Amino acid sequence: MKTNNLGYPRIGEKRELKKSTEAYWKGELPAADLLAAVKAIRRANWERQRNAGIDLIPSNDFSFYDQMLDMSCLLGAVPARFEWSGSQVDLDLLFRIARGTRGGKGASSTASEMTKWFDTNYHYIVPELSSGTAFRIAGTKVFDEFKEALELGIRTKPVLIGPVTYLSLSKMTDAGASAASCLDLLPKVLPVYIEILKRLQDLGAEWVQLDEPIAVLDLSPAQKQGLAKAYAEIRQAVPKLKILLASYFGDLRDNLADFMKLPVDAFHVDAVRAGNELDAVVAALPVDKILSVGIIDGRNIWKNNLAQSIKRLESVRGKIGADRLWIAPSCSLIHSPVTLRNEVRLNGEIKDWLAFAEEKLSEVSTVAAALSGKDVAAALSANHASCEARSKSPRIHNPKVKARCAAVRPEDIRRQSVFSVRDEKQRQKFCLPDFPTTTIGSFPQTAEVRSTRAKLKKGEMSQADYDSFIAIQVQDAVRRQEAWDIDVLVHGEFERNDMVEYFGEQLSGFAFTENGWVQSYGSRYVKPPFIFGDVERPNPMTVRWSQYAQSLTKRHMKGMLTGPVTVLQWSFVRDDQPRSETTKQIALALRDEVNDLEAAGIHVIQIDEPAVREGLPLRRTDWAAYLRWAVDAFRLSSSGVADDTQIHTHMCYCEFNDIIDSIAELDADVISIETSRSNMELLGAFVSFKYPNQIGPGVYDIHSPRVPATDEMVNLLHKAQTVLPRRNLWVNPDCGLKTRTWDEVDPALKNLVAAAKELRHSGAR
Ligand code: GLN
Ligand code: ZN
Repeated sequence: MKTNNLGYPRIGEKRELKKSTEAYWKGELPAADLLAAVKAIRRANWERQRNAGIDLIPSNDFSFYDQMLDMSCLLGAVPARFEWSGSQVDLDLLFRIARGTRGGKGASSTASEMTKWFDTNYHYIVPELSSGTAFRIAGTKVFDEFKEALELGIRTKPVLIGPVTYLSLSKMTDAGASAASCLDLLPKVLPVYIEILKRLQDLGAEWVQLDEPIAVLDLSPAQKQGLAKAYAEIRQAVPKLKILLASYFGDLRDNLADFMKLPVDAFHVDAVRAGNELDAVVAALPVDKILSVGIIDGRNIWKNNLAQSIKRLESVRGKIGADRLWIAPSCSLIHSPVTLRNEVRLNGEIKDWLAFAEEKLSEVSTVAAALSGKDVAAALSANHASCEARSKSPRIHNPKVKARCAAVRPEDIRRQSVFSVRDEKQRQKFCLPDFPTTTIGSFPQTAEVRSTRAKLKKGEMSQADYDSFIAIQVQDAVRRQEAWDIDVLVHGEFERNDMVEYFGEQLSGFAFTENGWVQSYGSRYVKPPFIFGDVERPNPMTVRWSQYAQSLTKRHMKGMLTGPVTVLQWSFVRDDQPRSETTKQIALALRDEVNDLEAAGIHVIQIDEPAVREGLPLRRTDWAAYLRWAVDAFRLSSSGVADDTQIHTHMCYCEFNDIIDSIAELDADVISIETSRSNMELLGAFVSFKYPNQIGPGVYDIHSPRVPATDEMVNLLHKAQTVLPRRNLWVNPDCGLKTRTWDEVDPALKNLVAAAKELRHSGAR
């Protein structure tokens, strides 16, 4: 029985890729050194996989940025503004497409857009195609890496994004072209794919992996036809090269029958996300094809229950035979941290429940060995012990939390009165002017703020000194806001490293790694906390700083919390209960925090939910169920307060068309959203839906260092008041200001308040 791996983390176990790439960008590392550094990463990865007993080891899974961008560079799909001469796409051009060029070439070379890869937090650079795109082989990376491994004695399986997924995730830049028209380019791109495959075959490749994860989405007829056409042509052109067609991240459902008919040699399916479908897949597998079963979760950090996996796979083997069954992780391991080896501070009991990429490789080979009748009794009994210990650990199970969750009543997710009643009470209580001004929460996290926190963490500073430092920052922020004449103030979030980590550190059931990094985009990695047990809030988390800030001013101070869905979405989540249940526990913890803030005199409370939309399931038919529990969790956290306590929420995007009714169902008294870059056009959803509550469409693009002029913001607000009731409008930036400097924030917020004042004076109600 063979073992197969789809991809391995390229960031290096000590983030070597980030360090060398960023040094190269700064001009501190010569290109040759960068290339040597990444060659060492690749070599270590291949050898590790070989030593772990992986038979089908991937190559071309390495990337300086992301695999979609690599594919664009290989196919010569370079946007015109980069003025590419048309021979080879070199590394600097790749970085320019990803990051844009600053200065020099000017505005004509802004970076390509970036977006999330399916439902992961990994991003790719969106290919910009047009009817004029002339595809041709413009890179050698995939060939070079195959040869590089071959020289080490490893015949790898090169990995490419399949043509239909590549085109489906691209955008067309022709005026008036629809997104779907990218697929019209299939006849043009296929010959280049075929050329690439032929070259790989000539170099000695036996297997090539083509990733077509779009097979787990709702497909259009054109996409279905595209898959059939692409693989028929590929088969015909390279009949001897063996093709592994990989789907992952979900089940195939209605696409299953067609997918399993494609003329390739092996199929990979995600048996973690699509476990229920495995029998149907096996039944549909043609007799001459191999099935790679992704049984080890590539998207999460938990040890696999090997006995259970072996049992499931024994049944598959019984049906298709050992020589047609490969054992694999569910998807590429780039979505998992690299290795547990360097986690020295993690509690030993908890560490024993985890498996990162390196450990997942040995799980794959243990499962295969067991199924091949080899003696792996020791490994299996150790695994059994870990799984048992985890399931029974008192660290995980908190009967009090479970009982409280079970006792949630319908009235707990409802405010006392409907919005119109609350609205009147709040207007009377807060006496805010029209177009009230506020900000989204954070103020600049200056180098001083960050280095002071680092000192505290390293033990070079006492907690008391750190707290005094934070107090000074809060005083400064309050003073500035009063000087700008902002109506609803914030304390500035100086004490927070990250909007999820800050809460995770104070909740029980959360743990943190030292090196559990995963790539988010380019050289940006994230280190999500993980939720291993029932979540409880032992003590108030934010009351102290909010209360302190309120004591400094007569104006209203807004309390600032991260919402339950966002905490969930940006963590690794326990897999032993539904995500909805974990979210409910987080929501109850936040509810206590909201109530405590209210009791402490904080009567405006913002619960940020920037991740609600990205949590949407891949298939539309699954949306309603998700939105139900996501909305209920927000409401559970926010509904324990009096009518005249004002609940705000914030989301950093505005493509709400699909989910606007759920956004309204959150029933926040005020929502702030991102709109400035789209010139208020994105407000469309709120208008056609007649969004009932108050709304602050962002008028200051905080992603740019530019200081917006008062007039610009006035214009945006004029636009907004033509489509939304004037009395419902708030004035605020697009998002938090933590990445900006005071030099930018100061004039920008002065202008913002001036804009609000101008609106107040222009036009009566
Ligand atoms: N309150 C957070 C901040 O201002 C919100 C951040 C976010 O929406 N991502 O930083
Ligand atoms: Zn935001």
